[in-house]
Amino acid sequence: MPPDTETFWTSIPLNELDPEQWESLCDGCAKCCLQKLEDEETREVHFTNIVCDLLDLKTCRCTHYAERTIRVPSCVKLTPADLDDPYWLPATCAYRLLAEGQNLPAWHPLISGTDKTVQHSGNSIKGKVVRESDADDWEYHLIDWI
Ligand code: SF4
Ligand code: SF4
Repeated sequence: MPPDTETFWTSIPLNELDPEQWESLCDGCAKCCLQKLEDEETREVHFTNIVCDLLDLKTCRCTHYAERTIRVPSCVKLTPADLDDPYWLPATCAYRLLAEGQNLPAWHPLISGTDKTVQHSGNSIKGKVVRESDADDWEYHLIDWI
């Protein structure tokens, strides 16, 4: 796709996207399903390689997507209102990038035309994580590849 091509994500404000457009922005990286620690004073966020037990580790999709916030109260059902201050989302998250005025990366499925590029570019968590039920102290699981 030529860099100056107009697309729905560059031409329509995030809060005016229809549900299908909104969902299609998710690249399926599953980085937001990783547990994280936050310094309350500095708001510095440190991700771990500990992933929510509800994630399917083969597909990197939530096994209970429709009722995810009921099953896991800390799970955030992302809305445009959450993007006013998206510092807590992974830096590559499509929603955060757009909210911060950036474009989607070349490996995003909407740009590349395939979801394979998420893993090939190293942006999927597939094969790099442990389940929360198998993990010990979060401090031992901090990562820097997010
Ligand atoms: S980090 Fe963002 S783009 Fe990646 S799976 Fe989560 S919501 Fe989707
Ligand atoms: S409930 Fe589903 S979407 Fe929410 S963090 Fe867990 S695996 Fe991810």
